[in-house]
Amino acid sequence: MDKYDALKQYFGHTQFRPGQERLIDAILSGRDVLGVMPTGGGKSVCYQIPALLLPGLTLVVSPLISLMKDQVSALRENGVSAALLNSSLSPEDFQRTAREIGRGVYRLVYVAPERLDDPRFLALLRGRAVSLLAVDEAHCISQWGQDFRPSYLKIADFARRLPRRPVVAAFTATATRQVREDIAARLELRDPECLVTGFDRPNLYFAVRRPADKTAAALQFVRERRDKSGVIYCATRAKVEQVCAALQRSGIPATRYHAGLEDEERRANQTAFQLDQSPVMVATNAFGMGIDKSNISYVLHYNMPKSLEAYYQEAGRAGRDGAPAECVLLFSQGDVRTARYLIDSGGENEDLTEEERELIRRRDLARLDAMVGLCKTSGCLRRYLLDYFGQASPERCGNCGNCRAPAVETDVTREAQMVLSCVKRVRDRLGYYVGPALVIRVLRGGGDRRVRELGLDELSTYGLLRALSRDRVQALVDHLEQEGFLTVERAHGTLRLTQRAGEVLFHGERVTMLCPAAPPEGGTKGRRRRAPAAQAAPDDGLLSALKALRVRLAREAGIPAYIIFSNATLADMAAKRPRTPEEFQNVSGVGQVKAARYGQVFLEEIASYIGGET
Ligand code: ADP
Ligand code: MG
Repeated sequence: MDKYDALKQYFGHTQFRPGQERLIDAILSGRDVLGVMPTGGGKSVCYQIPALLLPGLTLVVSPLISLMKDQVSALRENGVSAALLNSSLSPEDFQRTAREIGRGVYRLVYVAPERLDDPRFLALLRGRAVSLLAVDEAHCISQWGQDFRPSYLKIADFARRLPRRPVVAAFTATATRQVREDIAARLELRDPECLVTGFDRPNLYFAVRRPADKTAAALQFVRERRDKSGVIYCATRAKVEQVCAALQRSGIPATRYHAGLEDEERRANQTAFQLDQSPVMVATNAFGMGIDKSNISYVLHYNMPKSLEAYYQEAGRAGRDGAPAECVLLFSQGDVRTARYLIDSGGENEDLTEEERELIRRRDLARLDAMVGLCKTSGCLRRYLLDYFGQASPERCGNCGNCRAPAVETDVTREAQMVLSCVKRVRDRLGYYVGPALVIRVLRGGGDRRVRELGLDELSTYGLLRALSRDRVQALVDHLEQEGFLTVERAHGTLRLTQRAGEVLFHGERVTMLCPAAPPEGGTKGRRRRAPAAQAAPDDGLLSALKALRVRLAREAGIPAYIIFSNATLADMAAKRPRTPEEFQNVSGVGQVKAARYGQVFLEEIASYIGGET
């Protein structure tokens, strides 16, 4: 068997993705490798195929138990003998697995890094040749990364203590040079083949929106994607609770994940998400590495993350099966304030010197600036992202919010003057400053009780911006804050004029702002742009039938649906409509074992669907 046979027979793919082949070839020729590919890029097969072709055992170090479980069940579904060895096993299972490893039953064994200095584990491997040591999520070894795991530092030592040093292959999605160099050094890679593949994920649609009411926007977003699975990332636990509750109240099967929950609940919620019992997950960034779910069709950022690294990693969890998916960020100026505040007040780490802390602070602020830049750019969002990660790309991608509804630089001086003078008038009338929400209500002339009670409906600025939506006025206020004409006082959240406001009010300074050329998105009633995820599938009815069948089979077997077949595979199946087992094998993502296991039921489903059509 060669690598192509293995790819088709076990994984059902006919072609390697960019980079996979080179890494596999290097490993097979005995060379260490460092593979950097974006999330969803297909790192797993880079060590799983060598594992099938090399004579000895392949050990895979992976940081999380849930990750290991998923990978092992996926491999077993594909007919590959794999096992995991970690603290989640009962003593009996552990002993049995250990014996079976000794007997050479498995091609791949997943281990937690904590296991590596266990003398019993080393003894177990004495009689077995280890051909390959694969380190997944290798950035966990770097203190510069966000997911540093001290136990990863044991890996190099472990490799040295084996009777024969295996090939060491490291994989990560973290692209910065610093982390890459750290990985190579700490894993003691020997003249590794380093491969950094493109970071572009063409199937992801990126967009930034600025709704005044994020919760309402999130609700609507999820409602419009009822049959889809998605993740909503929030900055804090409290937000997670609030958003999840709001979704549940409107009948959406959402669940939540954050570090404040008991282990058990976290696990249960994650499982409910994996199994699509609760297809919507509301989470903090604690919900991350453990998810290998391939059918996530959107990632909605309720808050802006602190860096583009974090953003791209989180957004990248959508569309891993290659099907079109959406990544939408709900931006507000408040997110920037919160992030700044966290950076300024952070650095509690006592191990660091004052100087180091300052260095980190400045680095974090620079990262934040880059992140804010994405939210403010009128250019192509994909190009902005790829540029940050050091990859050249065309001017326009055609598949992001800015390419589809380009923003145009607009003169908003008049509106800006209205906002600024309203802030001043309110302050003059009341003798104190108020928060942005009240100012916006005055500007839009809503005439609610509080506005009237305070006599603010008598101001000359009352109702001046009646013609604009609340979102637009909010965006304008945000913009004026960002440009330094307004500032929000931290303690009371009141909106104040800065020195610079006078330039606009009295000295003719112009203010420009990016405004959507088309009517603002997020509008309701059938005006919704066609989202890429909603692209008409070749055959929607058949696809739904196949999905239903997949859910049924998954329930029966107690495994996540996407482990049976990915969305991309079902879509291909619906398009090709195979009628014979041979044709079934031609569907992308169908390997031998799965064809044997599921071919008949799926063929019957397709036949009965076609029969019903005529
Ligand atoms: P990563 O670990 O890099 O985030 P995975 O290894 O989990 O990504 O792969 C992501 C998805 O890509 C999986 O659904 C996998 O089946 C699919 N995939 C991997 N290699 C190929 C290939 N050569 N052709 C088609 N699909 C592939
Ligand atoms: Mg992976």
